[in-house]
Amino acid sequence: MAVTPLINETQIQERLAELAQRIEADYAERPLTIVAVLTGSLVALADLIRRIHGPLRIALVQASSYRGATTSATTLVINETFAPDVAGRDVLLLDDILDTGRTLATLVEHLKDRGAASVRTMVLLRKIGRQVVPIEPDYHGFVIPDVFVVGYGLDYNDEYRHLPFVGVLEP
Ligand code: 5GP
Ligand code: MG
Repeated sequence: MAVTPLINETQIQERLAELAQRIEADYAERPLTIVAVLTGSLVALADLIRRIHGPLRIALVQASSYRGATTSATTLVINETFAPDVAGRDVLLLDDILDTGRTLATLVEHLKDRGAASVRTMVLLRKIGRQVVPIEPDYHGFVIPDVFVVGYGLDYNDEYRHLPFVGVLEP
């Protein structure tokens, strides 16, 4: 399948540099724990953290949604094997894309339940016209239209994550 570029490598890197500066200023030397949602946010995580100067830890969580067999309700299963104790920490939750908003909203509540001192959110991409859960990310890279995108961490059947740009998958 063909991938039509939507956001190029330079645009992504420049935007991450801006966001890293804002994050640095906002946290002002307060130790920060970035909790990245597997697997889609890994590439953004790697590029972002190398631009943030100041005390920083990283943690990983996995969140998978399952559609119920008999209802349309979705359940989010959270696996936090690689997330250390976040109690008392200032957490920045990082995901690849905000679509319906369910993943981010559920994880924010989960981190607060675990006793995080504060929880902010960042997404690389924010899809318009799809959100069902009201949540405003504190930082976002780019607003995109309602298209299926891959690259820079985002996959289709676990492929395309390694592309250095974000593109639209054309059937
Ligand atoms: P939400 O819980 O906001 O509906 O879903 C967010 C998750 O859906 C993302 O973490 C991502 O895994 C997946 N997703 C949503 N839109 C896209 C897309 O356009 N491309 C890819 N590859 N994944 C998407
Ligand atoms: Mg995801």
